Amino acid sequence: MARVYNFSAGPAVLPEEVLQEAADEMLDYQGSGMSVMEMSHRSKTYDNIIKEAEKDLRELMNIPDNYKVLFLQGGASQQFAAVPMNLMKNRKAAYIVTGQWAKKAYQEAQLYGEAVKVASSEDQTFSYIPDCSDLPIPEDADYVYICENNTIYGTKFRTLPNTKGHDLVADVSSCFLSEPVDVTKYGVIYGGVQKNIGPAGVVIVIIREDLIRDDVLPGTPTMLKYKTQADADSLYNTPPAYGIYICGKVFKWLKKQGGLEAIKKRNEEKAKILYDFLDRSKLFKGTVRKEDRSLMNVPFVTGSEELDAKFVKEATAAGLVSLKGHRSVGGMRASIYNAMPIEGVKKLVEFMEKFESENA
Ligand SMILES: *Cc1c(COP(=O)(O)O)cnc(C)c1O
Repeated sequence: MARVYNFSAGPAVLPEEVLQEAADEMLDYQGSGMSVMEMSHRSKTYDNIIKEAEKDLRELMNIPDNYKVLFLQGGASQQFAAVPMNLMKNRKAAYIVTGQWAKKAYQEAQLYGEAVKVASSEDQTFSYIPDCSDLPIPEDADYVYICENNTIYGTKFRTLPNTKGHDLVADVSSCFLSEPVDVTKYGVIYGGVQKNIGPAGVVIVIIREDLIRDDVLPGTPTMLKYKTQADADSLYNTPPAYGIYICGKVFKWLKKQGGLEAIKKRNEEKAKILYDFLDRSKLFKGTVRKEDRSLMNVPFVTGSEELDAKFVKEATAAGLVSLKGHRSVGGMRASIYNAMPIEGVKKLVEFMEKFESENA
């Protein structure tokens, strides 16, 4: 078996222990005589799986009792619509546009009401996080929206925006469980799990209970109403059952690593190895303003498209895969999520040093 170091932005690397465990349980989950894939989502056995996953997530993130945890489908992109449909009581919301995902959410919200762009970093190819300490947020905005970690551009909000008393909604797809968060600072936290938690097909929504309402926008599909999902504990219809089971295993793995404080330390250590190298390299350059750098997604370039392509090709041959940058940025991007071992980052930097000396 030859496992590679997988720097994919998503679907992305998962802890090997988790994959091994899932493999061991594939044919017979804990004496049930069947795989979790084959099991009724109404069975006692499955009920334990989803309840335990929620309990472990609550523990990891220290989620207060007045927040609901929902395991849904449709990916993060479906939430671009679900958020305004459920929360736009005044049909107005403020959007901070720091990348392609935030922009898509902003555009989708325009279908349902007035989405006001209160800040943007598009003027410099989304390479920084704008100053969000005193934004012109409309008084009657229903919420302020951010994409907290910009997967494509490699920026991260180090401090949350001043929402001037409005509820904050955050897409955390690519920084989910990468460090501790104060859940009480948000109205809604959501993310697709395929970046940092589990297999594609699950999106987790953490929502304060008073935001779960019956008076959603007219025409909101039953399935997209948070109330439908909350009242049914995520079992209104068949949930992405196997995906949730894997997420549950990753939560247990994170607890074993020491929880989010410990994971944050490790993530900082990993990112530092790579950023320190980028800062001293004469060939490779990071593309993001230093103070806004993401711990999870690290884009970099050589300045020559030809060399970039050569690098990606040779890295792949050396077992360092999925380093090609997003098509909208070019260059390279190393996604170094929770499950990327520190050895993977060290190997990458060693390889970059070697490539630099050979191509000077
Ligand atoms: C990947 C990603 C999305 C899109 O997720 P889907 O589950 O494919 O819809 C949205 N937001 C962010 C921040 C992402 O990284």
